[in-house]
Amino acid sequence: LTLHHIICDGSSVPLLLTALLDACEALSRNTMPPMPDSQPEVTRYDDFVRWEQELLAGEEGEAHRAWWRQQLSGDLPLLALPTNRPRPAVQSYAGKTCSITLAPALSRNLKTLAQAREVSHAVLFLALFKTLLYRYTGQQDLIIGTPAAGRPQERFDPLPGYFINMVAIRSQVAADQPFARYLTTVQAALVGALDHSVYPFPRLVADLAISPDLSRSPVFQVYYAFQNFLRGETLDDLVGRYHNLGAEWIDGLHQEGEFELALEVFESHEQFTLHLKYNPELYDRATIAGFLGHYRTLAADIAAEPDKTLSACELLTPEDRHRVLTEWNNTVADYPRDQCLHELFSAQARRTPEATALVFGDRQLSYRELDERTTALAGYLQNRGVRPETLVGICVERSLDMVIGLLGIIKAGGAYLPLDPEYPSERLRYMLEDSRTTILLSQSALAERLSAIVPQGADIIYLDRDWPGIAAAASQPTIGASSPAAAPDNLVYVIYTSGSTGKPKGVCVEHRQLVNFITSMGREPGLTAADRLLSVTSLSFDIHTLELFLPLVTGARLVVAPTAATADATALKACIDRHGISVMQATPSTWSLFKAQGDLEGRQLKVLCGGEALPPGLCHWFREQPSLTVWNLYGPTETSVWSATGCLNTGARGLIGRPINNTRIYIVDEQLQLVPPGVMGEITIGGAGVTRGYLNRAELTAERFPENPHASWEDRDRGWSRIYRTGDYGCWRPDGTLDCLGRVDQQVKIRGFRIEPEEIEHCLNSFPGIQTSVVVAKVTKAEGNHHQLIA
Ligand code: AMP
Ligand code: MG
Repeated sequence: LTLHHIICDGSSVPLLLTALLDACEALSRNTMPPMPDSQPEVTRYDDFVRWEQELLAGEEGEAHRAWWRQQLSGDLPLLALPTNRPRPAVQSYAGKTCSITLAPALSRNLKTLAQAREVSHAVLFLALFKTLLYRYTGQQDLIIGTPAAGRPQERFDPLPGYFINMVAIRSQVAADQPFARYLTTVQAALVGALDHSVYPFPRLVADLAISPDLSRSPVFQVYYAFQNFLRGETLDDLVGRYHNLGAEWIDGLHQEGEFELALEVFESHEQFTLHLKYNPELYDRATIAGFLGHYRTLAADIAAEPDKTLSACELLTPEDRHRVLTEWNNTVADYPRDQCLHELFSAQARRTPEATALVFGDRQLSYRELDERTTALAGYLQNRGVRPETLVGICVERSLDMVIGLLGIIKAGGAYLPLDPEYPSERLRYMLEDSRTTILLSQSALAERLSAIVPQGADIIYLDRDWPGIAAAASQPTIGASSPAAAPDNLVYVIYTSGSTGKPKGVCVEHRQLVNFITSMGREPGLTAADRLLSVTSLSFDIHTLELFLPLVTGARLVVAPTAATADATALKACIDRHGISVMQATPSTWSLFKAQGDLEGRQLKVLCGGEALPPGLCHWFREQPSLTVWNLYGPTETSVWSATGCLNTGARGLIGRPINNTRIYIVDEQLQLVPPGVMGEITIGGAGVTRGYLNRAELTAERFPENPHASWEDRDRGWSRIYRTGDYGCWRPDGTLDCLGRVDQQVKIRGFRIEPEEIEHCLNSFPGIQTSVVVAKVTKAEGNHHQLIA
């Protein structure tokens, strides 16, 4: 006789096993038990069904329904745990299990804790599980489902069959709540749910009229069950009897994954065993094994100190901590920390004076020529009063002048403020006013445009029209002699980004941050004197610094694409071919233009892509182009351009790769505590790239650039004592590479533009007749997957 499967619930197991064993023993003795003469009165499953129907039709059923509706009112939280793979539109039922056993000592400590706090083991393990999920997701409102025996009356006890009813345990957590107090909350929630467990869950789902979402299970996505029947004398006895029959007892786990995560805790005499079931289409085994490790760390921490607050208890194992703080942030490298950017350029010009530095259309300048011109401009600007920390606006078309202007300003000791002539006048006027900029570089073709923007009495220098005067001034010996030079901690540029309070804010970047960035980029992704880089990016984006300065401190050739070519794949390809381009940097939106056109036809190109999330389709296309080496670059303006880089050709798990040189990346929760690898948190960035902050916005700067609680004393010594909170969600992959997983807030990126919808709402709301407004970014398929802002 072979028995393949028994499907029943836990309460039925002893019943069935007794019956089976009786039969087996009888068979082995070759004596079947006598059949009774008459059938005794027995309770049948039908009786249960009738009982349930009557209950639900009556007042008691109504009371249960009302309780549940109240309990599950409002928006039901969806578990916000980041998955290893994108969630399929239709949920699958694939399932796998990962297990750990808690050591006898820890198990004993937990039993002692439960006893001291007068809660059951089931409640303790549930509270730990909820704490873990809270720490993973930051979600204070959590619902976990658990099975109830579903045998409401004693007369149903001897019935084999599946009576289980699922109940939803909803409870609120607060970060500053001590765990011991939270235990009581969970206990009450569990007791409440069990008191109303006769109300069938499927009926409840129908009552709640939850809009169907085939990608997730309704009401709760996480399951919890505490199994202590293994402790029961009966079962152990039964297992003993099996042995007597020469049969073997196998602990089987059912593998179907109807929930995203399911924790089953088994209690035996000595210890607790945890089985975490997961859907392998969503999670990797390593991630789940990590979760169990965190559970154990948390349990040990709580057992030692039950009154710790939920936000303070420890999840990271010492190994995790070492990995995220040291191993994966091992980025310290030399860079010319005592030099300013223009000094690096001048040194290069002395090394390769006759090499071609800069090309625009048919015109080009050698390193020597560029150095001389920018020195002349610098002297001229110093004569006009430019000193370290003086902001000089620069409003020019893409041209040789664009590069001459920038280098001239910083050689003079000043810092530049890019003013894109394509920007709306209001925006330009605001930036000039907010930064109190009164001196500007421009071109005569833009004179009329500027007159609408520039404040009274501002000093405008036209690089074309005024050049003879600039060149003449260069030969006067007094120029520059008395001007103090800029130091590495002086400003090099200020770039404005969108602001959620309705006002854009200027980010203040110093030479030392820029120099570290440029030096790091020179090593990886890397650039050599043989390279030719095509610059396509507007000065309004800080990534222009890589395009313009990296080649010029390396001895490479910088080719500036004309404005008309920058958004036209055919024209860009022509530039690439004409100038023998080997490196180009652009946003995914620009790279998508090439994808839309087919391919880059075997061009050997180093592709630098960043500024917004890399769309999966583009990533896939990149990987199919064997002639491309593709780098994904990530970073906010506030930490100097790019803070992490990843090469797509290496097969790294995380798309944004690793922190660049002298950069620390921490993934943290709201309290700035480290979250474990594999868990989503906010990306915060420390190290040499952290900028001075926002111009004239001390309060905002303090809020977004807090003290770094994770800085080692060496880091403090290096002056790396602050971090920037990016507002990006991210997580560490098991190989020590990073992923960026969306925004904490509403900020969006459209063609590389950083936009805070609140800024637009703020503006719309200021119109008479508009009470309130909502601005969102949508992807419109009709227009070739373009992002659109919709108000
Ligand atoms: P910005 O200050 O304009 O450079 O914008 C920085 C923001 O752009 C970051 O905080 C991210 O939200 C987003 N971002 C930049 N690069 C990437 C990237 N490679 N992948 C995903 N998001 C990115
Ligand atoms: Mg950036």
